Amino acid sequence: MANEKLLNAHSTFTFDCHPGISCFTDCCNDVEMTLYPYDIIRLKKRLNIDSESFLEKYTSMEFDEGVWFPHVTLKMAVNDACPFLTSNGCSVYEDRPFSCRSYPLARSVKRACSPENQEAKYYLVRHNYCRGHEASRQWHLSEWVDKGDLNIFNEMNSHWITIYTILKSYSFEATGMNVNFFRLLFCAIYNSDNFRLLMDSCLTDEMNISNELKEKARSCDIHLMQVGFAFIHYCLTGESLK
Ligand code: SF4
Ligand code: SF4
Repeated sequence: MANEKLLNAHSTFTFDCHPGISCFTDCCNDVEMTLYPYDIIRLKKRLNIDSESFLEKYTSMEFDEGVWFPHVTLKMAVNDACPFLTSNGCSVYEDRPFSCRSYPLARSVKRACSPENQEAKYYLVRHNYCRGHEASRQWHLSEWVDKGDLNIFNEMNSHWITIYTILKSYSFEATGMNVNFFRLLFCAIYNSDNFRLLMDSCLTDEMNISNELKEKARSCDIHLMQVGFAFIHYCLTGESLK
């Protein structure tokens, strides 16, 4: 069970999490965690594997009710623990997913088709088993955001929210989209190494994706993600992504 409290920009809260605390790694078992495209870029680089291998080994596809496009979740190991959990704690700590690094904060975003119109709120989440809330160490919201390096994740995730907002409102059946196109969209979002191979055959001049961005995307996953999002935006709206 968890309860949540809405925070504002000036909010403070008390929390501390460290090896030695009695609940250490309790939160890394039986976790239902969405992985965002940027999480996958960080994790597959950390593990030094390609996106296809990462998706196959560590993720599942989940469909929200009424939504035709899936999101990706972290698959637990056979013992129901996070696959990155070791006896010493998190083995991917510096590149852990957004949900892990932001806890005990959760970020809720009002979806919109452009990052400028997305309203974000932070909540303080309290699980009964988490002893970190009993600590006296006080944090300002902005301190926790800085500590977790959350701003880069927030920026990357805001582009994904733009695309997900469009995908959610798009009717798969009405347009007669075929399975191959569905796979291509999935690849452009989550399977960056495969999309890099397909990129040149997918992009057209009408999409207005600059040659500079395309060149950077050949070696940089973040730029490749931007190209993938621009490709999807054009395919679903007929307009280039600004
Ligand atoms: S204090 Fe909370 S976040 Fe830290 S290990 Fe314990 S349960 Fe997990
Ligand atoms: S990624 Fe790390 S912090 Fe997150 S659940 Fe797994 S082991 Fe825990």
